[in-house]
Amino acid sequence: MDVHTQFDWQKGFLLDFSAKDGLSKGVHSTKRALSQMKNMYADAEAFDKAVAAGDPLVYEFYELGAPESAGDLAFGTSIVYPGKVGDEYFMTKGHFHTVLETAEVYYTFSGEGFMLMENPEGDVQLISMMPENVVYVPKRYAHRSINTGKVPLVSFFTFRGDAGHNYATIETKGYRKLVVEGSDGRPVMIDNPRWHEI
Ligand code: ZN
Repeated sequence: MDVHTQFDWQKGFLLDFSAKDGLSKGVHSTKRALSQMKNMYADAEAFDKAVAAGDPLVYEFYELGAPESAGDLAFGTSIVYPGKVGDEYFMTKGHFHTVLETAEVYYTFSGEGFMLMENPEGDVQLISMMPENVVYVPKRYAHRSINTGKVPLVSFFTFRGDAGHNYATIETKGYRKLVVEGSDGRPVMIDNPRWHEI
């Protein structure tokens, strides 16, 4: 089914975004199981074990199929499930926008975590994601959300319709930093031992 037909991008529409489950019926869903994130977690042994033990669903997001034009706004919901690979919290793959100079806004419905951001010059920013708080992801920054809590991290996002997603850079190089559970049980940001500059 073509989801474009459900929403009138020319005349407007109302959509019920229930904060309870963070999504609505009939919207495109993309699911990422752990096995689709090979080499993204630092502990390869823990990764293989978790995949073999059932390959958990790490996150999913819901989109409406917005027109990919500069004047439209794409939006949807992201859900990152609680869990860890070794000491490293479940997270999204993260991406740059294909049109690098485009920003994005995330509003958190429920759960707790962080938005980890880095730009091509190597500046890194880590911002808390908490219910009823907004994270502004500036243009030029790759962004990844990380669930450091015990319940799903559910957020609403919106960005310029033609921004596009560049996953390849992160898949190849990784992030400079990781967020792991420290010895005191609290999240801590560390250098990514597998990060490499190409
Ligand atoms: Zn984005």
